[in-house]
Amino acid sequence: MPSSPSAECLATERETIVTPVPRPAAFLDRDGTLIEERSYPTRVEDIVPLPGAGRALRRLKAAGFLTIVLTNQSAIARGMLDEEHLGALHEHLSGELAGEGGAIDDVLYCPHHPDGSNLAYAFRCDCRKPGEGLLAMALQRHDIDLSRSLFIGDQPRDMFVGAGKVGGRILVTSGHPIDDTSSADMVAPSLEVAVDWLLDGVPDGVAAITPGAAPSDGAD
Ligand SMILES: [Mg+2]
Ligand SMILES: [Zn+2]
Repeated sequence: MPSSPSAECLATERETIVTPVPRPAAFLDRDGTLIEERSYPTRVEDIVPLPGAGRALRRLKAAGFLTIVLTNQSAIARGMLDEEHLGALHEHLSGELAGEGGAIDDVLYCPHHPDGSNLAYAFRCDCRKPGEGLLAMALQRHDIDLSRSLFIGDQPRDMFVGAGKVGGRILVTSGHPIDDTSSADMVAPSLEVAVDWLLDGVPDGVAAITPGAAPSDGAD
């Protein structure tokens, strides 16, 4: 059967579209990592990017990383805001960070909590961190090379230890106090400094990296 040139051309185009090279992602926590840690922020004025967060995103993008926010937002289950409202807050946040040249490729959130008051969201789910549902969702939506990907957050649950060997896990101390850093490859004071250290190397004399840190036996 003769094939028309246009069909061949279409097939070639389609091939280039459906076979992108997997890219590493930087999976970022939101509260305490990208923005100031505040209790259930519901107003745009409470969404305050941490200093240098936009610059850090810009550097990650320039280095080839997708930037994907994975965040627990139980304020929805708690009846403090709805998903539309949360979407508006994230639009605002994206705009603020874009002002510093930083771009967020995707925001995935868990709206659930077993003790919630909004019964539509009040259940135990797979997507509330430390569950891995948000990561699974991101891997479905984007073509990601997990082995080169980074996890950056201010709590051990942001490290997604179940994902196995990845490019790096970095805890930042800009949000919650961190008692147990055993899940991280590096501890940095902020997202901005973490990205500088990752891309430029850790300055001499800075005790930032705990190479090959194994989870302690007593960790639960
Ligand atoms: Mg946090
Ligand atoms: Zn959930």
